[in-house]
Amino acid sequence: MFGRRKLQGRTDEQLLLMRAAGLLVGKTLEMLRSEVREGVTTLELDRLAETFIRDHGGIPNFQLVPGYSHTLCTSVNEEVVHGIPGSRVLEHGDVLSIDCGAEIDGWNGDAATTAVVGGRAAGSSDDLHLIDATEAGLYAGIAAMQVGGRLYAVGDAVEASVRAAAERDGHAYGVIDEYVGHGIGTKMHMDPQIPNYAVSETGPKLVDGFTGAIEPMITLGTTDTKVLGDDWTVVTTDRSRAAHWEHSVAVREAGLWILTAIDGGRSALEALGAVYDPIG
Ligand code: MG
Ligand code: MG
Repeated sequence: MFGRRKLQGRTDEQLLLMRAAGLLVGKTLEMLRSEVREGVTTLELDRLAETFIRDHGGIPNFQLVPGYSHTLCTSVNEEVVHGIPGSRVLEHGDVLSIDCGAEIDGWNGDAATTAVVGGRAAGSSDDLHLIDATEAGLYAGIAAMQVGGRLYAVGDAVEASVRAAAERDGHAYGVIDEYVGHGIGTKMHMDPQIPNYAVSETGPKLVDGFTGAIEPMITLGTTDTKVLGDDWTVVTTDRSRAAHWEHSVAVREAGLWILTAIDGGRSALEALGAVYDPIG
């Protein structure tokens, strides 16, 4: 299903270029977090992101995806991924996932984050649990990557983390398996596909310099989704709320470098006992 081609690693020089693109994505998401509030439309967020990326020498790479003309995907509440920015006005307590990408000098970054409109104080405990469980699943998946290890260990780790959170939180989280993570580099979406959920195969062997985007999508209910009439927006069929977190990651001989995290992933990796290994 996912192919068995041997993975290719990137040189240090290429990884430094990818870090520039990834850092711009991380900074764009950080900027947007302070702009997410009641009364703002998702299109306003999109315009802020486009201006920020272009002002910093980047290209909004979502606009390079055939048929898509925005800088972000903004997915609200029961929308899982691929929500199109528009006239929707954000409301207090909405769960908003923002997916963002940028290209600089032909190299790409891709990341996503989920937050409550109005801040954590505005979130229901269910929604906060969902958001935190998804973020923890992302970092667990990332921390499972190591040179010589198997790519699909990512999905095993995501799923184990989310199942543990489900037990702790008293929820039956749905781990979406209709959309996957992916390799990233000279294009945003490249081979191989990376399942963000457990699969029976082990996948290809990870090599030094491999770069991939890990992006678990978790719901408070079903794993069944459908695409709305706009041909993009993916929603849960039971209208349960969803969260989506994503980072672009470089696997290095000695450890990991989270290219789209502002701190390179240092704090999250060290908290998990994983080795943070940036260039420079
Ligand atoms: Mg993305
Ligand atoms: Mg992606």
